[in-house]
Amino acid sequence: MGLTSTQSAQKEAERGILLTTVDKMTRWARKSSVWPATFGLACCAIEMMSVTSSRYDLARFGSEAFRASPRQADLMIVAGRVSQKMAPVLRTIWEQMPEPKWVISMGACASSGGVFDNYAIIQGVDHVVPVDVYVPGCPPTPEALMFGILKLREKIQMGLPPKYQEIAERGGAS
Ligand code: SF4
Repeated sequence: MGLTSTQSAQKEAERGILLTTVDKMTRWARKSSVWPATFGLACCAIEMMSVTSSRYDLARFGSEAFRASPRQADLMIVAGRVSQKMAPVLRTIWEQMPEPKWVISMGACASSGGVFDNYAIIQGVDHVVPVDVYVPGCPPTPEALMFGILKLREKIQMGLPPKYQEIAERGGAS
C-alpha cells in the first residue's frame, strides 16, 4: 500500500530531509530578513531605536539591519508625526524602496495625527503611503513595535500582498 503525502513527509523528516516549495522558502527568507529604512520623525523614533539594543534584540528576527539607503530597505517604520512639509520627502523615500516593500505606522501621531489635530500635521500617514500594520500607543513600547513586526512577518509568510499591491489590485492608486 502506498504512503500518504503526510506519511512520506514524516519519513523524509526522519531521514533529515525537509521538503518545501520554492514559494514557501522565498516567503520564509523574505520574512526573516525585513530591513527597515533608517528613518525617524519624532519621539516614537527613540522607542524604535531601542529595539535593536541587546535588551530587545530585534536581530532575533533578522530585522536589526536599519539601512541608510532606501534602495536597501524593504520596510518603512513611520515613527512619529508627519508634518505637511515632511510628507513629500517621506513619499519619495518610500518610492525609492525596491518592491516588495512594507510600511508600519508606529504610534498615534503617525496613524492619526495623535494630539496634533492641526493644519501642520498629516492626520494619518496612510494619506501619504499605504500602511500594512498599525502599532498603537503614545509612544508604543519597543515590545509593541516588535509585535507589529511579528504581525508583518506573519503576513509575509502567509503570502499576503503588501498594502500598495492590494490597493492596485482593487483598482485604486497607491
Ligand atoms: S505618538 Fe506620542 S511619542 Fe509618538 S510621536 Fe506622537 S507624541 Fe511622540
